[in-house]
Amino acid sequence: MERSKRTRLVHGGTKRSQWGEMSEAIFLTQGFVYETAEAAEARFVKAGDDEFIYARYGNPTMRMFEERLSGYLGFEDGFACASGMAAVNGALMALTKAGDHVVASRALFGSCLYVLEDVLARFGVEVTLIDGTDNAAWEAAVRDDTRLVFLESISNPTLEVIDLAHVCKVAHAKGALVLCDDAMATPVYSYARACGADISIVSTTKHVDGQGRMLGGMICGPKELIRGPIEAYMKHSGGAMNPFTAWTHLKALETLELRVRAQAQGAMALAEALNGHEKLNHVRYPTHAAHPQHELARSQSEAGGTVLCFDIKGGKDACFRFLNALEIVLISNNFADAKTIATHPATTTHQRLPQEQKDILGITPGLVRLSVGLEDTRDILSDLLQALESA
Ligand SMILES: *Cc1c(COP(=O)(O)O)cnc(C)c1O
Repeated sequence: MERSKRTRLVHGGTKRSQWGEMSEAIFLTQGFVYETAEAAEARFVKAGDDEFIYARYGNPTMRMFEERLSGYLGFEDGFACASGMAAVNGALMALTKAGDHVVASRALFGSCLYVLEDVLARFGVEVTLIDGTDNAAWEAAVRDDTRLVFLESISNPTLEVIDLAHVCKVAHAKGALVLCDDAMATPVYSYARACGADISIVSTTKHVDGQGRMLGGMICGPKELIRGPIEAYMKHSGGAMNPFTAWTHLKALETLELRVRAQAQGAMALAEALNGHEKLNHVRYPTHAAHPQHELARSQSEAGGTVLCFDIKGGKDACFRFLNALEIVLISNNFADAKTIATHPATTTHQRLPQEQKDILGITPGLVRLSVGLEDTRDILSDLLQALESA
């Protein structure tokens, strides 16, 4: 029977043991045993889809999670990784070699920039960074020898939106793969597959866990890449997810849509309520009318994720007075938690960027990134408004 996406979040990938357990089993085992020496030999020649050898290569709990999340996102398969960065690093290392050219959007998560600019460059991969919101810049940068392009569908922390279908068209015309880091878009509102991206990389630390507990990641894509070069690199280099994380994530997927839809509604409502506030220079949420690219954002997705940002007049001092006056909202650097979090990117997550880079990316001293949690939105709004009095 045809199953809708939401049903697949609850039932997708489930494999029951001979005991018929209701809740997915956690297989906390490193290894597997074989009936006979011949069976062991056969499995090492070629392991079937549900045959396992060693937990670094794969494990039944991890497999259930891979099938559930990658199927939900519309991809053929996925490889579950120890963190979002294990997934980003694994995908990039598995798919490039010395002499290749890579084009990436400049507005990237700091650790992604490190892997591209430091690690790949050391192995002879040429990386060109561009303004990802500029369609012409992609056309100019992608060449015949470009192996892949890498981008964040919605950038962190300024929430710039990339025209993903256009990037895919430009890249595919030159035979390049499109790798999309989908952390901000969220799995619920991801449009990576619909716009034609070859690979979606999910930091499952964010909305999949959603409750600030586990680190995890997944590389989703066509079977030929996932069970080919990506699995080969991941299983031999040791970045696999552990079974306990996979089990926690499986259970968390059951509530993913309920949580993320509520958080996105909260983010939109807060953007609407704060827009035009006298203490703010601007408010940004991708699908809100005050965002310069809201039409593009709305054409790509129903909602713009669970994070908004705003710029407080008076720079760092005013911004710190605001942060220190918050009573419910917590000061932290993560996002996509059930608890609402305020981040000051200029002094924390993006502190190490040189000033000129901060200027290019719009990371001003007054910028606050707000990750909306699962509290009553009215309480969060009251807290933000009273704290803005102090700014
Ligand atoms: C958080 C994040 C990552 C890294 O994920 P981890 O699970 O922390 O390793 C990568 N890219 C983006 C855009 C992120 O927000």
